[in-house]
Amino acid sequence: MDVLRLHGAGDIRLHTEPDPVPLSGEELVRMTAVGLCGSDLHWFEEGAIGEDRVREPFVLGHEMGGVIASGARAGERVIVEPAHPCGQCADCNSGHGNLCQQVDFCGHFPVPGGLSTYIAWPGHLLIPAPDTIQGDDVALLEPLGIAIHAIDLSHFQSGMTAGVYGCGPIGLFLIRVLRAVGAGHIQASDPLPNRLAAALASGADEARSTEMGGQPEGVDDWGPVDVAFDASGEDAAVETAMRTVRTGGRVVVVGIPPNDRTSFPAALARERGLTIVMSRRMKAHHMHRGIDLVERGKVRLDGLITARFPISAGPEAFARLLARSELKIVVNPSD
Ligand SMILES: [Zn+2]
Ligand SMILES: [Zn+2]
Repeated sequence: MDVLRLHGAGDIRLHTEPDPVPLSGEELVRMTAVGLCGSDLHWFEEGAIGEDRVREPFVLGHEMGGVIASGARAGERVIVEPAHPCGQCADCNSGHGNLCQQVDFCGHFPVPGGLSTYIAWPGHLLIPAPDTIQGDDVALLEPLGIAIHAIDLSHFQSGMTAGVYGCGPIGLFLIRVLRAVGAGHIQASDPLPNRLAAALASGADEARSTEMGGQPEGVDDWGPVDVAFDASGEDAAVETAMRTVRTGGRVVVVGIPPNDRTSFPAALARERGLTIVMSRRMKAHHMHRGIDLVERGKVRLDGLITARFPISAGPEAFARLLARSELKIVVNPSD
């Protein structure tokens, strides 16, 4: 089968390898769509993410779906839940499987991800794709779940106002879900014009341009909003969230910072008594809640996938990811 392996920073190569052999409890899945994520960009740019680095060539890809290739469920279209928490530890037992330190996460070193023709993955983590979710859209449920988890962490309640800073796919899903669950005014910012347009199309009331690394014009009079999200990982967006959220409000940091450091003006956060929440992936039920929102027509998946590549063009797909010109890039490993 075809496999894309990350060898180190900026170095992704196509290999031909034997198909994986599923272990007991696992299914063989032919991958049809794998979305490239901001976290994959960190792996690609830095050869690392946070404190984890590539120690031998490995396979990225955790936003994805495919078709079960053999066994009793052969032919079933599925969405892959990439997190396989241990189910035994204190975090798992208290409903925080997203914090399990023994988790196997598909596409996070050393667990191979989905950028290959086939993967073997536990059957209970393969969620049947409903008829309302077709084609490459199976790759969008994981990032949708990330947005739902972040909104839970914000303590959002219907009628509240919100700020979303960074309008890549996660920011756009934040906007779409906030709209679906009854947000009042939603304001957004991003340096890129195509993302601002997408923010408005996703339901933001207002989208302000900002220089890379700077603050949107009039930031100190913008809002205040009840809850604010950084969906970029950039210090500037964290600061925008802090400047625009109400005093005593919650700022949820969803983005992953470059070089594993976030910094912000401490006096600003302290004097305003802000609560800063770090969001970590999602819990199993967030994926199901996302599917439900889509099935009921409350959240749309359209307009997010703007580029598709066959697996043979994997290096080109990552070059495009690096250019940050698209919204969601999808690789089709079976094409
Ligand atoms: Zn992701
Ligand atoms: Zn655990």
